[in-house]
Amino acid sequence: MRLSVIGCGYLGAVHAAAMASIGHDVVGIDVDAEKVDALSRGLAPFFEPDLQKLLEAGAASGRLHFTTDIAAAAGADVHFLAVGTPQQRGAHAADLTYVDEAVEALIPHLRPGDVVAGKSTVPVGTAARLAPLVEATGAQLAWNPEFLREGWAVKDTIEPDRLVIGVGPDASAAVSALRRVYAPAVAAGTPFIVTDWATAELVKVAANAFLATKISFINAMAEIAEVTGADVTQLADALGHDARIGRRFLGAGIGFGGGCLPKDIRAFAARAEELGRGDSVAFLREVDAINLRRRDRAVELVVEGLGGSVFEKRVTLLGAAFKPYSDDIRDSPALDVAARLRGLGADVTVTDPAALDNARRQHPQLSYVDDRDEAIRGADAIVLVTEWDAYRRELTPEHASTLTDGRVVVDGRNGWDAAGWRAAGWTYLGMGRP
Ligand code: NAD
Repeated sequence: MRLSVIGCGYLGAVHAAAMASIGHDVVGIDVDAEKVDALSRGLAPFFEPDLQKLLEAGAASGRLHFTTDIAAAAGADVHFLAVGTPQQRGAHAADLTYVDEAVEALIPHLRPGDVVAGKSTVPVGTAARLAPLVEATGAQLAWNPEFLREGWAVKDTIEPDRLVIGVGPDASAAVSALRRVYAPAVAAGTPFIVTDWATAELVKVAANAFLATKISFINAMAEIAEVTGADVTQLADALGHDARIGRRFLGAGIGFGGGCLPKDIRAFAARAEELGRGDSVAFLREVDAINLRRRDRAVELVVEGLGGSVFEKRVTLLGAAFKPYSDDIRDSPALDVAARLRGLGADVTVTDPAALDNARRQHPQLSYVDDRDEAIRGADAIVLVTEWDAYRRELTPEHASTLTDGRVVVDGRNGWDAAGWRAAGWTYLGMGRP
């Protein structure tokens, strides 16, 4: 099929490349000329495992193109909307400017029978609001939320765990077009769930609300563990054996961040308020507050570990990205903790295998070192803030001891073996652990 993908960021670039890899003819369109230039040359403009390979293969196949010209969407059977929906400045609601602009720009290029499939995460009611504009051209509007995880985005796009297609009344053509787009996944038995627009929009924000709540739940337990001497990691293991609960997303630490969970739960709460149902998701404000408190806690632990003050102490942060296998630093807890420590007078060094260029742009006041061992050399304290393998699995206390005389580690992800660090002579401070 011929497809267009409007917005080629973390979601759209992967979607475009993945759709070309399964045999479609794809044009990716973005207003950012630099991004389009990189993508056109087969270069991933951000770090995402396997994306580079897919872009090269797409370029070689002649089935994948990128442009800044929205007119290139003309002739595609399905147009995916993948533009950003960030948090509004000074408010919690989602900023729909980019979605509105993209739809407006696309309208003149639609033909009767085309399908517009929204992938951006939007407040419930957005599709119903946009539908008359799209339908006036004879095209149909579907909402097809995206559940990919950064770091696993290529795999998640090609082999999703479910496909959700929200459509309006009489939209069987849109359903069959999307069934054809996702034919390999459908043939592999992937659940293909057809709903109305509102349900599809809600599936996405409800999923993120649930995940955020699960993380904040265990972080709330970490807060209780801290005043009782309990160990939240053992608590999570024991809870996780209950199949109704499960161990995943029960990792207590410095909490969630990134370009999705924080802004999505805030936008959901703001939309519920508009709908007169603010009380129904009032707990999301608490989920957000618990999450942000854990960043304070990590800072407190560093201060405590260094004897009550970090002033002029050398602190090395292992990680800048909001999660491993990504260079995404949007609302990264790692950088938030780094900036706060710097605010307290610490001499902060940040290292990360992929995210330093992005981090430098956002926090030019911090010091950055590419090499992990160089970053650790001479540090008074080491803080694990992003669970890259190079830090969590591969850095041993014995090796760290050869790099610095400092003997304090703060494990912001509860990723290390506390006993091992202590046995090697380190003061180990974890999140919600004695
Ligand atoms: P992003 O900021 O990385 O990408 C958005 C892109 O849209 C940018 O490249 C921007 O230049 C482009 N853009 C803005 N206006 C445009 C226009 N009028 N025409 C063409 N391009 C335009 O954001 P993202 O992380 O890819 O997220 C996009 C959407 O997908 C958001 O709604 C997000 O919540 C949702 N989502 C993201 C993920 C994820 O893991 N990143 C997962 C699921 C859903």
